[in-house]
Amino acid sequence: MKRHNFSAGPCVLPREVIEKSAQAVLDYDNGLSLIEISHRSKAFVDVMENARALALELLGLEGKGYKALFLQGGASTQFLMVALNMLEKRAGYLNTGTWSAKAIKEAQIYDDIYEVASSKDANYNYIPKGYDIPTDYDYFHCTSNNTIFGTQIKEFPDCPIPMVCDMSSDIFSRQLDFSKFDIIYAGAQKNMGPAGTTLVVVKEDVLGKVSRKIPSMMDYKVHIDKSSMFNTPPVFAVYTSMLTLEWLKNLGGIEAIEKENEKKAQLIYSEIDLNPLFKGFATKADRSNMNATFTLENEDLKETFDTMVKDAGINGLNGHRSVGGYRASMYNALPLESVAVLVEVMSELERKA
Ligand code: PMP
Repeated sequence: MKRHNFSAGPCVLPREVIEKSAQAVLDYDNGLSLIEISHRSKAFVDVMENARALALELLGLEGKGYKALFLQGGASTQFLMVALNMLEKRAGYLNTGTWSAKAIKEAQIYDDIYEVASSKDANYNYIPKGYDIPTDYDYFHCTSNNTIFGTQIKEFPDCPIPMVCDMSSDIFSRQLDFSKFDIIYAGAQKNMGPAGTTLVVVKEDVLGKVSRKIPSMMDYKVHIDKSSMFNTPPVFAVYTSMLTLEWLKNLGGIEAIEKENEKKAQLIYSEIDLNPLFKGFATKADRSNMNATFTLENEDLKETFDTMVKDAGINGLNGHRSVGGYRASMYNALPLESVAVLVEVMSELERKA
């Protein structure tokens, strides 16, 4: 049966990427597997350099003073690395969901954090706007896409201080002026590859401004100086990410995938709005093009809908426990056809009910 993978992450990857990385595990370098060669071998150093260059190229950040790193520890480790490398006196954080709140919690260990605004009052169903960012803080941190709640920042502030952004769940999905940001980080396991590596894009001139001693593994400068090879990198995750970035480049880059992502989002949201059995969770203006969150108006239909979803080969549609209902994650590699299958199931439920 054809499967339609709406999983929130790890999630759907392009089939050709999975096939190529599976092949590389079997034989990458004259009979040797990708996962048994030295990370210092030319074969792997080329992969790392290619992946780093592709990330900057796709974001339009080549030659603009940025460095791309493929680190470990997930986006969650970036919550504290950002603070260790950037926080001297005080920082401002925009609280738009569980992941923002976790980033705030980690940074609080090192200094006082100021929440510039929060949407916690409405279970994070919207993105706060019109807030002020103090000009004398070390940096401002935001989360571009709130994976759990299905909201997405559509317009970023003109930030008077360095801007740090957790783009874990929408990096490479839409065109933005990425040079507005000084640090961008994203766990690979949504739009880039398997779990196990985190892309960090750092503008070098924002570093070196804190007085604390930073442990080597936590220090962006150390990783930059060692070309993202300070310690053994997660070779399989970096290689697979490189393949996904190549796939995206061949498709026409972010500009091309953004159009596909808009089509998918329009399709699902118009069904959510037109079908009286469903209700969208996020405020319309702030709806995410990556994660559409919705609930059933009548819980009695849950069993029937869940069975229909399963029979249609749909996977990973359950909402996060803090929102309930359903979440359709539509990352770059999810075909429009999969969204059409889901929408058909939703309208079939309406016809049946
Ligand atoms: N930030 C966001 C926006 C996320 O969606 C996630 C994970 N889903 C994280 C951070 C945490 O990522 P990791 O599991 O890689 O630490």
